[in-house]
Amino acid sequence: MSTIPYKIYLEESEMPTQWYNVRGDMKKKPAPLLNPGTLQPMTIDELSGVFCRELAEQELDDTSRFIDIPEEIRNFYRMYRPSPLVRAYCFEEKLQTPAHIYYKFEGNNTSGSHKLNSAIAQAYYAKKQGLKGVTTETGAGQWGTALSMACSYFDLDCQVYMVKVSYEQKPFRREVMRTYGAKVTPSPSMETEVGRRINQEFPGTTGSLGCAISEAVEAATTQEGYRYVLGSVLSQVLLHQSVIGLETKAALDKYGIKADMIIGCAGGGSNLGGLISPFAGEILRGENQYEIIAVEPASCPSLTRGRYAYDFCDTGKVCPLAKMYTLGSGFIPSANHAGGLRYHGMSSVVSELYDQGILKARSVEQTSVFEAAEMFARVEGILPAPESSHAIRVAIDEALKCKETGEEKNIVFGLTGTGYFDMVAYQKYNDGEMNDYIPTDEELNVALSKLPKVE
Ligand SMILES: *Cc1c(COP(=O)(O)O)cnc(C)c1O
Repeated sequence: MSTIPYKIYLEESEMPTQWYNVRGDMKKKPAPLLNPGTLQPMTIDELSGVFCRELAEQELDDTSRFIDIPEEIRNFYRMYRPSPLVRAYCFEEKLQTPAHIYYKFEGNNTSGSHKLNSAIAQAYYAKKQGLKGVTTETGAGQWGTALSMACSYFDLDCQVYMVKVSYEQKPFRREVMRTYGAKVTPSPSMETEVGRRINQEFPGTTGSLGCAISEAVEAATTQEGYRYVLGSVLSQVLLHQSVIGLETKAALDKYGIKADMIIGCAGGGSNLGGLISPFAGEILRGENQYEIIAVEPASCPSLTRGRYAYDFCDTGKVCPLAKMYTLGSGFIPSANHAGGLRYHGMSSVVSELYDQGILKARSVEQTSVFEAAEMFARVEGILPAPESSHAIRVAIDEALKCKETGEEKNIVFGLTGTGYFDMVAYQKYNDGEMNDYIPTDEELNVALSKLPKVE
């Protein structure tokens, strides 16, 4: 009998009291956000017009290694954290692998994902600043759900611009948000100038994340007492998500387990960045070695096929420019792509770590992702989100490699959430109607050729 339990829980007293900012340990820092008008680095005052002051400070802070988690946030975290680190004994048995597989499960809250970790922090700072409310965008709906929940906790107004196609296809997500008191508007809408412009230019469009971001930013900057919040990509979001990695590291340390490989799915990079931060910090300080793998969809391959360049974060080009691995802000994944992780760019922190060789990236095709999801669901008792299942795919591939070599590697992956609102995608898979679409170089070049010229 092994002494490692199926579920490794930390005591509440062992939960982190500070977030870890990996930028503090990076010798070469991620490139700064630029003002799209002047091409100069964004100042704290410029950012504070869009974001809450303290969040703007966190965004620009690339030297503090640790930042205190305010007590109000720690108390909220206690309601659903620490999240379990699970030793996937049943899955190992099924795969007949000598590898030891662990997953950090973040789906134990109503949003069904890790996004609540940052939503509650962002709502807290908005409340502390005395704001009336916040605006945001949501694609599939997890972020909007998490934020609505966080805002209702702090009595803040929450306005969500939801990508129209999701608004229509995922009415239940919308209803969860409304239950928490959020106002949900399908995007592009006729309520903002940028929405009206996009509707006029592309009649009948079903929207995109990039459009919804532009609308939410406009809504924040044109209403007194409102700021804009974002659920991924930004460095402040990675900072808040470091709670995932800190808990994972603490739980592994508690049982004397050294991870060999850490795997996470990568959309905008926030869960991956949060999970790997403490481990990447050890690599950067020369204390340890880990193999870190970011997994992205083959149909939206920003790390594996994108360019490391300054780009717009949104379609309406109202946001600052960020240097990141990007497919171009005009890139929209193929309509048959059902697995989430559709953002055109990648967090600047993750991009820079990737550029420095601290992490590797792999792209996987969606039918193989759903195959992995199904295998996992059948033995581990959790129906995984399609996004999370990208990480499961590579964990399986690596565990099967160990089977050939006989290596007892410790594989840790992030299970970011549950997939109960993604049953239309599962249905497609079950009906054999899912196919894999990989964009050609020519197709990728269309959006890449329109990257802004910055240098
Ligand atoms: C949003 C989301 C992701 C992708 O976002 P990242 O910022 O890349 O972490 C992954 N999994 C789930 C369940 C999500 O909701």
